[in-house]
Amino acid sequence: MYVLVINAGSSSLKYQLLNMTDESVLAKGLCERIGIDGRLVHETDKGKHNADLAMPDHAAAIAIVLDTLISPDHGVIKSKDEVKAVGHRVVHGGETFTASALITDEVEKAIEAVSDLAPLHNPPNLTGIRACKENMPGVPQVAVFDTAFHQTMPEKAFLYAIDYELYKKHKIRRYGFHGTSHKYVSEYAPKLLNKPAKDLKIVTCHLGNGVSLCAVDGGVSVDTSMGMTPLEGLAMGTRCGDIDPAVVQYIMEKESISAQEAGDILNKKSGMLGISGVSSDFRDLFTASCDGNKRASAAMDVFAYRVAGYIGRYAACMNGLDAIVFTAGIGENDVGIREKVCDYLTWFGVDIDPALNGKRGQALDVSKPNAKVRVLVIPTNEELVIARDTKSILNL
Ligand code: AMP
Repeated sequence: MYVLVINAGSSSLKYQLLNMTDESVLAKGLCERIGIDGRLVHETDKGKHNADLAMPDHAAAIAIVLDTLISPDHGVIKSKDEVKAVGHRVVHGGETFTASALITDEVEKAIEAVSDLAPLHNPPNLTGIRACKENMPGVPQVAVFDTAFHQTMPEKAFLYAIDYELYKKHKIRRYGFHGTSHKYVSEYAPKLLNKPAKDLKIVTCHLGNGVSLCAVDGGVSVDTSMGMTPLEGLAMGTRCGDIDPAVVQYIMEKESISAQEAGDILNKKSGMLGISGVSSDFRDLFTASCDGNKRASAAMDVFAYRVAGYIGRYAACMNGLDAIVFTAGIGENDVGIREKVCDYLTWFGVDIDPALNGKRGQALDVSKPNAKVRVLVIPTNEELVIARDTKSILNL
């Protein structure tokens, strides 16, 4: 039983076709430069296939994906009718969506209604949904929200200390993101630890270009570091994370710039890139730091210090900590950053084995046998969560 997973951006569209009988990935790929010219990168067991193909809009891109999935040379299925459902990543579900949802006209309208909270993400997600409906009429579609996993947060974690009327009027509150990733690794961790999820207090650390931490108590999210938007929390590739809110007004006045320009600085020119002046990528930062670049070293220090600080905060909020999970590009691959973060946490009972910490590409407990708080590395799989939710909602 095949499920197509779609992650639509403004000019790009990522896809994966999964066989949900055994959860294997049959094909995955990316349509780029939609609305500009169009480029397809498609990958199967047979190898990689790249092609420049006209993609005037998302509907044209989906048509190309479906044609490629059934093509004699690069295809993996015989007919597009074999795709039984489509699962879509939707970034913001506001307070409306506490779980994934079968897409109906009402659900589409509700996604549109919360688009103000994610103006860069929800509109292209909706475009992807409509493009699939056009190309696959009658095939059920499911929306899986980045925010839904965090809807279990208590009020004390999601309320901002601002005028309550602003929350009521404009829904200004913490929502959190990367929900599918935090869900995947927090469900995987109990298997590695051989304990039921209900007995575990875990901090999951999604350290990629975007960075967020989540406090998971008894299997549910009780707090998370990103806020109304993905700008809050940790220092990220190009996002500033937590700063004094007064800084925004100060920069606008000192630099004579608009709110939009200030937002651009904090979203795109801050974080690791802003501090180092070198790059947002940790591989570049590491090389620069080894070459003696002090700002690159400072950026990585800020990063690790804040991750450790948030773990401490969540240990206090949950009144306990059984395990820390590292995932995503940096969390899965950067041995040095994991070591730096864990060095702050020895007092809590964190004690990692350097040889185990040096391993890559597999889900692993990297702690020494007697460590009180376990440290796990778990490769994330957001597409699988989307496909699983799609399957379960449709009872396939
Ligand atoms: P993601 O958003 O999960 O794809 O993560 C992307 C980020 O992971 C990149 O910007 C890098 O900073 C980081 N990354 C990826 N591979 C490595 C690696 N081998 N070592 C260190 N950092 C890495």
